[in-house]
Amino acid sequence: MANQYSYSFREGDGKNKALLGGKGANLCEMTQIGLNVPPGFVITTATCLLYQEKQQLPIGLMAEVKQQIAVIEQQSGRKFGDATNPLLVSVRSGSAISMPGMMDTILNLGLNQQTLAGLIAQTGDRRFAFDAYRRFIQLFGKVALGIADEKFDQPFAAVKNRAGIKADIGLEASHLQEISALFLEVVRVETGEEFPEDVYQQLEIAIKAVFNSWMGKRAVDYRREFHITPQIANGTAVNIVMMVFGNRGSDCATGVGFTRNPATGTNEMYGEYLTNAQGEDVVAGIRTPKPVSELAQEMPDLYQQLVALRTKLENHYQEVQDYEYTIESGVLYCLQTRNGKMNAQAMVKTSIDMVDEGLISKQRALLRINPELLEQLLHPQLNPHHTVPVLAQGLPASPGAACGACVFDADTAERLGKSGVAVILLREETKPEDIHGFFAAQGIVTSRGGKTSHAAVVARGMGKACIAGAEDIKIDVKLRLAIIGDIHLREGDIITIDGGSGNIYLGEIPTIAACFSPELKTLLGWADEIATLKVQANVDTPENARIAAEYGAMGIGLCRTERMFNASERLPIVIEMILANNPQDRQRALDKLLPFQREDFKQLFVAIYPHPVTIRLLDPPMHEFLPTAQQLEDEIHALKHYLLIVKAQRVTLETLNNHTHLPAPFAQLSEETVSAAIAKKQLMLKKVNELFEVNPMLGHRGVRLGMSYPEIYRMQTRAILEAAALCIKDGLQVHPEIMVPQVITLEELKKVKAIVLEEQRLVETEHQLKLDFKLGSMVETVRACLRAGHLAEIAEFFSFGTNDLTQATFSFSREDAENKFLPLYNESGILQDNPFEVLDIKGVGQLMRMTVTAGRNNNPQLRIGICGEQGGHPASIHFCHQIGLDYVSCSAPRIPIARLAAAHAKLLAAQN
Ligand code: ADP
Ligand code: MG
Ligand code: MG
Repeated sequence: MANQYSYSFREGDGKNKALLGGKGANLCEMTQIGLNVPPGFVITTATCLLYQEKQQLPIGLMAEVKQQIAVIEQQSGRKFGDATNPLLVSVRSGSAISMPGMMDTILNLGLNQQTLAGLIAQTGDRRFAFDAYRRFIQLFGKVALGIADEKFDQPFAAVKNRAGIKADIGLEASHLQEISALFLEVVRVETGEEFPEDVYQQLEIAIKAVFNSWMGKRAVDYRREFHITPQIANGTAVNIVMMVFGNRGSDCATGVGFTRNPATGTNEMYGEYLTNAQGEDVVAGIRTPKPVSELAQEMPDLYQQLVALRTKLENHYQEVQDYEYTIESGVLYCLQTRNGKMNAQAMVKTSIDMVDEGLISKQRALLRINPELLEQLLHPQLNPHHTVPVLAQGLPASPGAACGACVFDADTAERLGKSGVAVILLREETKPEDIHGFFAAQGIVTSRGGKTSHAAVVARGMGKACIAGAEDIKIDVKLRLAIIGDIHLREGDIITIDGGSGNIYLGEIPTIAACFSPELKTLLGWADEIATLKVQANVDTPENARIAAEYGAMGIGLCRTERMFNASERLPIVIEMILANNPQDRQRALDKLLPFQREDFKQLFVAIYPHPVTIRLLDPPMHEFLPTAQQLEDEIHALKHYLLIVKAQRVTLETLNNHTHLPAPFAQLSEETVSAAIAKKQLMLKKVNELFEVNPMLGHRGVRLGMSYPEIYRMQTRAILEAAALCIKDGLQVHPEIMVPQVITLEELKKVKAIVLEEQRLVETEHQLKLDFKLGSMVETVRACLRAGHLAEIAEFFSFGTNDLTQATFSFSREDAENKFLPLYNESGILQDNPFEVLDIKGVGQLMRMTVTAGRNNNPQLRIGICGEQGGHPASIHFCHQIGLDYVSCSAPRIPIARLAAAHAKLLAAQN
């Protein structure tokens, strides 16, 4: 059938997820590779967009739908709306990107008074038919007619109570019949109209409802949170599928499975099912399902079929699958498959395993992992030696440790979370409406539902710790209380959860940093083999250098020497240096600083040996090391009062002829001492006022300091070269790189080079050895980009400082931008990203590209890297690869991400 709006599962293109949605495309593909999928068709996402635009279904759609239904009728031998052998369908949403539970699905559509009788005749099962009917009325009422669930819950509970029945499964046909009648009444009261009897009218309303759910608040929030832009997914498809019934008796079941364990990655049957139930029951956590291993006993034959299904799915998709199935009277149907959302640990393990099994290539193993996901692996874990007893236990649904205050609903979680409180969301079960609570929470606990429940799936997708089905916990939302035995947890009480073990503890338990698994080492080893970009670290201390080395850093791309100035035993010397009024005094202070710096550099060289270390000479404006004028004025003010007190003490003693003795500490304080302190503070205040700059970040800083106070740069150079000499003497052939910040002209580099050459001569003579080092320039001013060719005559390397370069390119000051107007710019789409986080390829990137070309033209040996924060961001890394940089440098925790992204950049460039 050549048509515009819809495709039957037998003809739709299984690769076209943009048009058919992920669910629809996979239903087509599964049908076409011979899996047992109930017959059905997909209405395209393009149709959804037409609907959104005009707020009405396109003309001709329903005619086409009728033709498609006719095809299903032919295949199934049933008839839609028929009084003897009725066809029922589900109407399911599904966009290009899976958004679990965010949009709506209606089951059992096509039931009315007539077809109900037909269903009873067809199945001979009144209970089943009325069960399907009441479910349909409620779901249709909720999704298509907008009636709140509670309206249905009331009459449902009333009938159950009156009959004295606890579990839904105990309801008899007559009860369900009564419930159905009450539900029809609910619809009448709530909408003022009869429940629609015409099955095509039902279908039309349902299609519109699914289309509407695309713009529903839940779905819109979700897309915003996960940055799902229209390029990624635009509109939802509607899948119309013949109903198969998992709730027609004890030889029926419904379940969900993963082809591998999504929490650990282990290659095993994984999933849960319920006998005699319909799909949503498993996911919604209404009944706690059974692990799939029990199916092996309960229905051995079908279990084997399920194992075969799992293998076929993985072999075909070459990816871990998350699938839904239903067993109707001994026949297995596959209802959905999609790539499994797993946590980082499981993604890494499955990558390694699938390569070992020969299922996928190393390239694919790398490409299937989103680099950002690796951040999870660096999350802290519970200290394994803690001795806190377990308070309660549930199913380990999503690993990781989390600690926070108990909250019992998503709104409170959001409110507290936004005000900076760490919270753990405790619910009986979660629903898609709770999604905002997930964003705000550190972890999630549910008292019902299994490892494939909504809470588990969503938490895993977000990489948040989750424990599901902790049945010992009784949660009372109204009283804001969770009861575990005789312990009462109130809102705000602190608990710790371990999503890897399912254990819940009272209070806060210390955590330890995560360590690299052997699998991650292997995977990143493959990445390094493929990537051409090297990944270095921005670190300033030997401790961090060691961590960076552990994460696989191939050197230090940026060491900010000024960070070494702030230690408490050094700051007074730095202040002395700044307060100095002449070069001699300044030199005296510098001579004291030199040994500190030399020792720091030496330790850095050793920590990351044999890789290079790039050290940036002093950069920030000097006043950053001094107190503020306000602070000094306050102190002087206080001291002057104190001087009066000391004076008064003296007068007191003199008046009493020194008969009274003061306690020892006071006895020491003379007026001269206090006056001396005042004088020192006043001197500092004078200096602070002298150093005052209207715009310090554009003022006396960077190489400009080196020009005004060459002795500072000389001392730092000396410290670097002496540290190198000492390492060489210890047998370590280190390669320091001296980096000059804020350069605008070759003249600056010439002056620094002169200093460096003098110091090199001195150190080499003194230590009787040859040093091997480089001198290079930060590129962080626009002028440096424009003069790159000239700078490259002296600079042996360039390093893009993309924080300052971004400020300079936009004429934004970062703090002001981020605090004042950038959020608005981002929200209203004037700027797509924050350019301080995501490299602005169109602007800053163009300057970089120019710089690379000009620099390498004059100096083909020029090594070029980036040391701005954006250097750890995958999209920026792709760009850096494209323009031919040699390395990126980022903070230690970003290194694994950057290594993987560097491999992706190479692989994707090769594909295009
Ligand atoms: P979601 O996107 O929330 O997973 P689905 O469209 O997959 O929603 O449907 C919800 C539930 O209903 C699933 O458990 C699914 O397996 C079940 N379901 C959907 N269509 C059918 C059908 N034709 N027959 C039986 N069960 C169905
Ligand atoms: Mg859905
Ligand atoms: Mg589904």
